[in-house]
Amino acid sequence: MKRITDERTINYMKKRIAEAGNIVAILGIEMLVEGGGYDLDANDETYRVEEEYGFCPEEMLTTSFYNAKVEKFFKFYKKEIVGMQVHSTPAYDALLKLQAQGRLSAVVSQNYHGLPDGIAFRNVIEYNGSMHSNHCPRCGRSYDLAYVRTSGGIPLCGDCKTAIRPGIRLIGERADTTLMTKAALACEKADVLLILGKNMYEDRFECSIGLDRKQLRVLFSKEAVLSDQKVDFIIRDEIQMILPLIV
Ligand SMILES: [Zn+2]
Repeated sequence: MKRITDERTINYMKKRIAEAGNIVAILGIEMLVEGGGYDLDANDETYRVEEEYGFCPEEMLTTSFYNAKVEKFFKFYKKEIVGMQVHSTPAYDALLKLQAQGRLSAVVSQNYHGLPDGIAFRNVIEYNGSMHSNHCPRCGRSYDLAYVRTSGGIPLCGDCKTAIRPGIRLIGERADTTLMTKAALACEKADVLLILGKNMYEDRFECSIGLDRKQLRVLFSKEAVLSDQKVDFIIRDEIQMILPLIV
């Protein structure tokens, strides 16, 4: 694949990253897609899902759908969300390198899919929840992903036979404000903010920095980006192609 980003931009980002003592990465959908996953918001995927389930992903991932059609929700959720196989990419290796150097202070994940096998970051903030931590809404008992995956139909609590609530943030729910604040604080302190793909939720993650602070913000996105995104660079290439070149 031909590179779109020019040499000058690469060198500038490389220099700024080399000088940075505090780097924060925000993971978005493209990190899943490059690792073999798919974007359920993409037109062809939305169409495929609608054909198969009779509803679009955006509809099935709402709180009202979960409450009204829990069986259908789990049929979709287990196959399309839990069943999505995502492996590591060179972009993760680049982040691990920064972590080993003690310069990656936080990884903020906008995805709820967890990290690929074998990838571990010291400080991960998953403010949209995680499909790995599920609980019974009645008694609070925790369940891991394997329990949800292997259950037939609706996964039920072993104690009270209530449908287990997936640990992800459904559409229509607010993000965890405590985690959101923690993520915003981490981002504010960063010298370099790497925004690796888009958020699957409508509300954008906002983090402000003082005018006296100089922070490099790089957004990786193939799509047209709204003009109010305050970033220094928008990179159209794959994250896994560029990130290893600049860290
Ligand atoms: Zn229970």
